[in-house]
Amino acid sequence: MSPNAADKVREAGGEALLERLLFLDQLSTGAKAPGETQPIASEGNLDFDVVLLGGGLSLVYAPLLADAGFRVAVVERSRAGVAHREWNASRAELQLLVDSKLVTAAELDQELIVAKYDYGIFRWHGAGEQRVKNVLDCALDAGPLLAKVRERAEAKGVVFFDHCSVQAETANQYGVALALRGESCPARLTARVVVDGRGSASPYAAADLICPTVGGVLQGLEVGDGPKQIQPNVGEILVTTEGIQAGRQHLWEAFPGRPGDTTVYLFYYAEAHTRRPGALLELYARFFDTLGGYKAGQATLLRPTFGFIPGWTRLSPGPTSGHPRIVLVGDAGARHSPLTFCGFGATLRALPQIVPVVEAALQGVVRSFDEASVHRGTGALAMLLARPPSAQRQANDWNELFDAAFSTLESMGPEPFQRLLRDEMGEAEFIRFLTRTSVKRPRVYLDVARQLGLGRTMRWGAGLFGPAALRAQLG
Ligand SMILES: Cc1cc2nc3c(=O)[nH]c(=O)nc-3n(C[C@H](O)[C@H](O)[C@H](O)COP(=O)(O)OP(=O)(O)OC[C@H]3O[C@@H](n4cnc5c(N)ncnc54)[C@H](O)[C@@H]3O)c2cc1C
Repeated sequence: MSPNAADKVREAGGEALLERLLFLDQLSTGAKAPGETQPIASEGNLDFDVVLLGGGLSLVYAPLLADAGFRVAVVERSRAGVAHREWNASRAELQLLVDSKLVTAAELDQELIVAKYDYGIFRWHGAGEQRVKNVLDCALDAGPLLAKVRERAEAKGVVFFDHCSVQAETANQYGVALALRGESCPARLTARVVVDGRGSASPYAAADLICPTVGGVLQGLEVGDGPKQIQPNVGEILVTTEGIQAGRQHLWEAFPGRPGDTTVYLFYYAEAHTRRPGALLELYARFFDTLGGYKAGQATLLRPTFGFIPGWTRLSPGPTSGHPRIVLVGDAGARHSPLTFCGFGATLRALPQIVPVVEAALQGVVRSFDEASVHRGTGALAMLLARPPSAQRQANDWNELFDAAFSTLESMGPEPFQRLLRDEMGEAEFIRFLTRTSVKRPRVYLDVARQLGLGRTMRWGAGLFGPAALRAQLG
């Protein structure tokens, strides 16, 4: 643990935020047996139809469930509807917030979108640079978004249990019993269905990848068009400033927000089982130490934001609650892209599906959220990135791989490039992308096979090159 990094987070974000960081940082990954509590004895008299656990991004589901006529409650260990992140997405993706009536178009365009970029950049240490338009090009003010969602939820009768931590849950054919802890919390709540939005802290968040991410909103970065400067009209989607170090390929991103503010993150891909207590603080120490190598200026951290984003390769069994009445959403279910980790975009796409999924759960039936087929292909690439080579002579391997892949996308044209980053690319197009990348970097298939081993490589190939994908490829 780096006391210096902890002090800096406390100084910028306060004691409660540091507590949140330390809470996340001491959790290990993988299904943790959820605590058990007295099960519900009969069908009648349950407190709520639906209880949403966690009031982070998944809070967006609460007003929609209330609109569908359900009695809804939200249980959150801190305060529900307070954002601890900054999010980016394209305007087309954000329209789903308006279509779901969570915000009006005027609120979205005039209050919540705080910056728009002409294009986004990918820049690789010792290699090339690529640009893309209409992807992650709107910076959203996450705090006001969630505050509005909470306001709407309250207006629709959703009941909030803030500062209440879920300690245990037991599901049976009647519903789910919850044991809560917190000063003014009921010790027990019952619901017909529970929607688990506890993110990476959920006991079911057992996906196979993890993306530790730290950073926050900074001021004082130098403005200009050099690589070490910030341009207010350009988003830096992925940038590296070094090769593989200490067994990791670190990546930066930087998204200008309100005038003078820039959200900057440092992160890396890792296998979930390698998550260690203290990983976030260790990464924060690196963030403070190496930020100057990425951006020039007298940076001040205004608002720290951080977290572990789980990712699921689709090469091993995914997270499941094991009971139809406990529905996993958001990071707990890790249904988003294992390559881009864009959980915000994935949550937006799930908005129209939440009511049918919960209605099925009320009948004791598991109905999965629809998901993009491209995730079956990108998972293997993400697993590859999570296992960087250790030999010094290969230290720039991932930069060369990124450059080969993104320059291939650029050469395929703006639409395919956008489709991959928005999870809209079909399998046939993904296979074309891989094939063209392998012309630039013939080792790519070999690297994947070596890193994944025979079983997972065959599973990947079957998912990707199975009859349906091949038919699509042949036209
Ligand atoms: C730093 C960072 C930046 C990101 N940027 C982007 C981006 O630009 N675009 C994008 O698409 N995605 C982004 N993501 C991913 C995205 O933020 C997540 O996928 C999303 O927040 C997941 O939402 P969630 O509701 O599942 O979990 P969260 O938003 O993490 O919320 C989980 C909530 O559960 C609460 N909780 C946990 N345990 C308990 C308990 N026992 N009892 C009660 N409450 C509990 C927590 O306090 C928290 O409020 C980013 C993630 C991080 C970490």
